[in-house]
Amino acid sequence: MKNVVLLGPPGAGKGTLAHRLQEEGFLHLSTGDVLRDEIARGTPLGLLAKTYMDRGELVPDEVILDIVRSFLGRQAAQQGFLFDGFPRTSSQATALAQIAQVDVVIYLDISKEEVVRRLSARRVCENCGANYNLITQPPKAAGQCDRCGGNLIQRSDDIPEVIAHRYDVYLRSSIPVVNYYEKQGVLVRVDASRSPERVYSDVIAALRNDCP
Ligand code: AMP
Repeated sequence: MKNVVLLGPPGAGKGTLAHRLQEEGFLHLSTGDVLRDEIARGTPLGLLAKTYMDRGELVPDEVILDIVRSFLGRQAAQQGFLFDGFPRTSSQATALAQIAQVDVVIYLDISKEEVVRRLSARRVCENCGANYNLITQPPKAAGQCDRCGGNLIQRSDDIPEVIAHRYDVYLRSSIPVVNYYEKQGVLVRVDASRSPERVYSDVIAALRNDCP
């Protein structure tokens, strides 16, 4: 099993794709999910991270790298990691190269307009973390999670001004990361403006080509 990094701006569909790839056996780490869990539990790390996240800014590298090291430390064997939302900066990418090998990097390509449209309609289950979209993937009952019946909420960083800022921050900081992996010949670009099914089948094809 290969180690995979999912890259792409917020709203490109990394979370949805990652959930499906987990079913293929990948060990998933979303640094954003870990940070939101820390915030929900009111830990010191969560309180610190919230001050950055509410403004759409990146959380400092040392905080993120501690999360990644502790995730890797918990896995007995090096098998099929799926990083989602990490690395976000070239210094994070360089640090990752020292602790784990990256075999395939999927870049989900999408415009700012489409991201703002999608994320303004995003709702998340406050209980199990399942994602919905009021336009493309609404829950069966309004405001209620199909899976566990939990309340659906809007993330505090999913309002249009913050979304547009997060997109700009993402692009600015990730261009060096994209270039870094492109030079290594491991980057695969996927058009993420299409349906989740089309994106998923392209990604699976890319992983199979790379993982005979
Ligand atoms: P995400 O769920 O990946 O969109 O992340 C939500 C927010 O968490 C981001 O806007 C950042 O504030 C923070 N965050 C998540 N992952 C990282 C990372 N690798 N580096 C820095 N900040 C991060």
